[in-house]
Amino acid sequence: MALLELEKISCAYGDTRALADFSLEVEQGEIAALLGPSGCGKTTTLRAVLGFEPVLQGEIRIAGEVMSRPGFSVLPERRPVGMVFQDRALFPHLTVAQNIGIGIRRGPKPLRSQVVGELLEIIGLNDCAARFPHELSGGQQERVALARALAPRPRLLLLDEPFACLDIDLRERLGFEVRDILKETGSTAVVVTHDQDEAFAIGDQVGIMEEGVILQWDTPFNIYHRPVSRQVASLVGRGVFIEGVLREEGAFDTEIGRVQNDHTFPHPLGTRMDILLRPDDVQIDSKGEISATVVKKAFKGSSILYTLRLAPGTQLLALAPSHKDLEIDEQTRLSLDLEHLVAFPRAPEE
Ligand code: ATP
Repeated sequence: MALLELEKISCAYGDTRALADFSLEVEQGEIAALLGPSGCGKTTTLRAVLGFEPVLQGEIRIAGEVMSRPGFSVLPERRPVGMVFQDRALFPHLTVAQNIGIGIRRGPKPLRSQVVGELLEIIGLNDCAARFPHELSGGQQERVALARALAPRPRLLLLDEPFACLDIDLRERLGFEVRDILKETGSTAVVVTHDQDEAFAIGDQVGIMEEGVILQWDTPFNIYHRPVSRQVASLVGRGVFIEGVLREEGAFDTEIGRVQNDHTFPHPLGTRMDILLRPDDVQIDSKGEISATVVKKAFKGSSILYTLRLAPGTQLLALAPSHKDLEIDEQTRLSLDLEHLVAFPRAPEE
């Protein structure tokens, strides 16, 4: 039995349907990330699990116990759920140790000190126990907020855009750190974010949401490399679609020649399809058969993301190590390294 079960729930604000027939299951000890654009229903999902949004249909269960169903809702304070808010909401007049212990202040003092001490150790802030929040960096504050939510040992932890206040580089690093802390404490967690790197850094499973439904629930690897639909492929990662005609098993004729690997497609030969080429599928390779011109480049430190124009006018993206520094308008050659061939039939109107 999963620890958290959302079974076909629907939630609405007046006439606005925020979640429709929405299901997901999170196993004990698993970290789930919900990823999707603004307004897709991520916060509503958390609010429903916390008990602040009633469900119009379906059921929410935690450890098998019904928390919400139409006309019935366990009070938020009775739910075994902890929450880390976007703004961290630390108490400015309390020290780090007091902030962490606030949720267990009614417990026996020795136990409280032990839990706070253990959590300070886990978040690596032993030396900062007596500091106040304004004496910490943003990343350190984030870890204190996480420790405070973990102190009462909730069955389930929810995190709402936990790194939204931090800069991009720190976000990904903290994503890994938070993941380690959650794993070390054996926590079960749901994180909502609109940042793909964050979702991939933290989640065992990622749910791609759009307009109140989950389009794919899968590992980060599969979400990126094996998107189940064109919609998921467009929402996650970068890439371009090129048109191809399915000729034989796993081989397409395209404007850049034959594109193939050993993947088989359940479509009749001759089907026109759109093939997804991610920047990491395209290699800058002096022996490559495809000629291209550099149109744009974005320096990303260890790599450069090139936009390349092919002779027929199509543009591709290629991610190359940054020591391969090509100039704008420079001619180059490309090859494809397609471990996973992702293609979707063209829509009839296209
Ligand atoms: P964001 O990333 O911007 O926080 P989200 O994915 O968390 O977005 P929700 O806040 O869950 O999305 O909103 C889902 C839908 O419900 C949106 O269409 C939103 O406009 C609507 N909505 C959310 N809160 C309310 C409210 N209090 N009253 C009316 N409509 C609301």
